[in-house]
Amino acid sequence: MSPITEVATQNIIISTNPATGEKLAELVCATPEEVHDAVRRARQAQPAWQALPVAGRVAVLKRFQRKLSEQRERVATLVSREAGKPTVEALTTEILVVLDAAEFCIRTAHSFLRDEPLPHGNLAMKTKRGKLVREPYGVIGIIAPWNYPFSLPATETLAALVMGNAVVLKPSEMTPLIALELQKLLLASGLDPNLMQVVIGAGAVGGALLESDIDKVVFTGSVATGKRVAESAARRLLPAVLELGGKDPMIVLEDADLDVASSGAVWGSMVNAGQTCLSVERCYVQCGVYERFLELCRQKIEKLRVGEGLGSEVEMGPLINERQLRTVEDHVNDAIARGARLLAGGRRMTELGPNFYAPTLLADVTHGMRIMREETFGPALPVAAFDTDDDAVALANDSEFGLAASVWTGNRKRGEAIAARIKAGTVMINDAISGFGIAEAPHGGFKQSGIGRTHGKLGLAEMVQVKYVGVDLLPHMPKVWWYGYGVSFQRQVSAFIEMLFGSTLGARIKGALGAMGALRRSNRI
Ligand code: NAD
Repeated sequence: MSPITEVATQNIIISTNPATGEKLAELVCATPEEVHDAVRRARQAQPAWQALPVAGRVAVLKRFQRKLSEQRERVATLVSREAGKPTVEALTTEILVVLDAAEFCIRTAHSFLRDEPLPHGNLAMKTKRGKLVREPYGVIGIIAPWNYPFSLPATETLAALVMGNAVVLKPSEMTPLIALELQKLLLASGLDPNLMQVVIGAGAVGGALLESDIDKVVFTGSVATGKRVAESAARRLLPAVLELGGKDPMIVLEDADLDVASSGAVWGSMVNAGQTCLSVERCYVQCGVYERFLELCRQKIEKLRVGEGLGSEVEMGPLINERQLRTVEDHVNDAIARGARLLAGGRRMTELGPNFYAPTLLADVTHGMRIMREETFGPALPVAAFDTDDDAVALANDSEFGLAASVWTGNRKRGEAIAARIKAGTVMINDAISGFGIAEAPHGGFKQSGIGRTHGKLGLAEMVQVKYVGVDLLPHMPKVWWYGYGVSFQRQVSAFIEMLFGSTLGARIKGALGAMGALRRSNRI
């Protein structure tokens, strides 16, 4: 058990700088009663927020966006201190992503929430006008992980709020200060404090949130916890979005620009010390360019500057904790024991601090190794060779995960043909991970990588319930299909179906003639 979990059971969590072990803060966990109270307050405040014109909610997002942009360096520094990543990465993958997501919500909310006319195809329903109306759920519970401690809960919170919901956020026990910073920025932007509350704590507090009166949960985390969340949600039919783990494959075809692809592989596997759900977790390279690709990766990995994320020159920080470090170590050691070739790294960097692991390159890996099947979530790039495009697709799809994948090639058509056959929520050609930074692109997985989507219009759609409203334009006219059934009515209905779906023109005309009587029909009750 990690030290943090031990203290968490005593209702205190300690926020720690993973690079140094320095204690940043001690926070008291919310009790189940406090979680329930937070949800009650959110529920009371939400109707007025929903009743506000969209422009009123958008105004809060605009102020939030301005404040975050002005305070970006301070927020990025906090992210580096509590989560360990280089400050420049905090700026690109956390602050910029959130500013852009805010922009998307600001631009899209009005049109997305506008009632949508729904023309009716069925002739019998032409006397009605229909529309789709989108309404917020009420209170959205968000449970977040530590690896993107600002951008993940912030993008989900902004989408929930702009659609008219209140939010209760349970951040990771590793990164509570960043969640509190997000809350502070929103409240300073004029948001009613009851509309965005943070409940601090570990899994038990997440459990309490699931048992509370929330209307939907948006969970981001591991597959194992996601399954527990899904079970708990299923018991009360609570709608749930699950953004879970990945084992994203990278396919390098022999016609790819190897210099670009090797840089992409190194960044894609090492960014945030490999602790990215969309990381390149396994790499397949076509036989003819395999050794050259490995050599380019080796040279680039050895140049990476590892250290505390606060340094501007640093390219890779520490892992979040000892438990994460041990997982990486176990996967690398298992691969070596089963015949993988270690080309770089493969060791702890205790000289730098408690949680550092050297960027690692492994060749000749196989699917019998844990590193090719389980989520490693660390700075390791395992590489295997393949022969044909079919082999690459088969290897990429040989996984229980399906979050994302990338294909690297000089031939876009060939890349797109492979992308079409890969079972994953996102496939990028000649890039990896950056789909997460495209506010319009939906984010979510196939298979065990999750259910539902965040980001883009599909992400907004998860924050609303859709209601169909149908208005009868001839309210004084009884409906022909109402009671008063009998032999002739049954014949008329049958003829009407023939008129609509009969296989020949003659049959349809005959059907139309037979159905006429129904129009003149007066109901008996
Ligand atoms: P985790 O599953 O351990 O924890 C996630 C959150 O769930 C934390 O806030 C935790 O306190 C809470 N939690 C734990 N037990 C709970 C329970 N029984 N009920 C309710 N909540 C509970 O994940 P983590 O280690 O924080 O994050 C890393 C994982 O998240 C990786 O698997 C990564 O791939 C995944 N992830 C996925 C995405 C995505 O968008 N698909 C993004 C980031 C991270």
